[in-house]
Amino acid sequence: MARRVRRPRGSTRVLGLRVYRAAVLIGIFAGIYSMLQAERTRTDRPITLREVRQHAPAASRLTRDARHPGSWQILAEDDALLGRALRTSPLADDVIGYAGPTDTLVILDGQDRIEILALRRSEDTPGHVADVVADAAFWSQWTGRAVDEVVEESLRFDAVSGASKTSRGILRGVQRRLALEARGDDDVSQGLSWTAWDIVLVALAIVGGVLRWLERRLGRWARWVYRALSFLVLAMITGDVLALSLFGAWAENGLPWRETLGVVVLAASALLWPLWTGRSVYCSDVCPLGIAQDAAGHVHRRLGWIPRWQLRPESGLGWMLGMLPGFLLVTAGIAVCLALSLDLANLEAFDVVAWPNARAIAVGLAVVGVAASLFVPKAYCRFGCPTGSLLELVRTPHRGARLRWRDGVATLFLILVWTLGEQRALLESWLREGPW
Ligand code: SF4
Repeated sequence: MARRVRRPRGSTRVLGLRVYRAAVLIGIFAGIYSMLQAERTRTDRPITLREVRQHAPAASRLTRDARHPGSWQILAEDDALLGRALRTSPLADDVIGYAGPTDTLVILDGQDRIEILALRRSEDTPGHVADVVADAAFWSQWTGRAVDEVVEESLRFDAVSGASKTSRGILRGVQRRLALEARGDDDVSQGLSWTAWDIVLVALAIVGGVLRWLERRLGRWARWVYRALSFLVLAMITGDVLALSLFGAWAENGLPWRETLGVVVLAASALLWPLWTGRSVYCSDVCPLGIAQDAAGHVHRRLGWIPRWQLRPESGLGWMLGMLPGFLLVTAGIAVCLALSLDLANLEAFDVVAWPNARAIAVGLAVVGVAASLFVPKAYCRFGCPTGSLLELVRTPHRGARLRWRDGVATLFLILVWTLGEQRALLESWLREGPW
């Protein structure tokens, strides 16, 4: 008689929890994305004469160009044609540099040669955008080029060092928009702009998971080699660490898999591993800040004389500090939904990898966090990191998985996001005029 295969107790519940948590997370991201896309369309900013005059002072008026939909003829006072003005948005809104699209103004002269490229608005990370804006050579590299020439794939461009993905995204957006002018279609080959480092990041994401399975057979040395490599690549070469600012920008603009496949795969593995296995490979073996805190713990063990404190969650102070990452995560979520001008990079320490251009607040948080880990194990992870809180949201171990208060907060947030999406106009009119 065939033996009945017994399923482990609670496995249905664990599977249900995994599906539920994945659905809530996807629902939140999808809700924010659809709400902000609708908002972007509603608050779209067409080209104005005032804006064009900043670059072409002789402009007297703008008229729609019947031969080129979406572009404007720039006319002088005597109605002589000075050139044309066009913008990359909304056509190229799916060209995402590092974290978001950029709307660029293009002014062509009477012979359809580029006269001006200027940034109008960008959803990319503010630090990278500031670097690109400050680089005059970047903006002038195509000046005098004919539209046809720019559309050609063979025309190379120089990216801004330290903001290469953002600057490449801007020029690819321009290329795409000019293709529509030149040939009547925008099929320029968005193409893929993966670099060798994207492949390295994908490899790190895969190897991290495999190492966890083979941990017992390979021994601890393999894990330390992997950690050293992760630290070297993420902290010292690419700077591609997962952070709230990145997740916020993706929720707003979509996943930039064409431009930064490596980071997208790394983020997917950071969310899927804890969801499926209950272990966070990213937090334990990939995140440079986590590795630095672990190293501080080793220093403590070596020195021996440094006092070690355990802030237990049950203690009043431990409970209060333990709530901080969740509070920062909710604050960031609300800021993204309401499009508040809060730079999420200022809420955590990860911008430290942009050294020497890192902002002071991130450097301060990183230094204090790692130093505190000498005394309290993984101090920054436990009491300061909202990105860790986001990853923890989906962690579902094989055993002992149950609904936690975090699930309740995430579900409430999901309801809030979709309600806000539906009722945003009503809410704004209330805020303007009051509900009476
Ligand atoms: S909790 Fe935050 S700082 Fe700690 S390892 Fe995870 S992502 Fe890095």
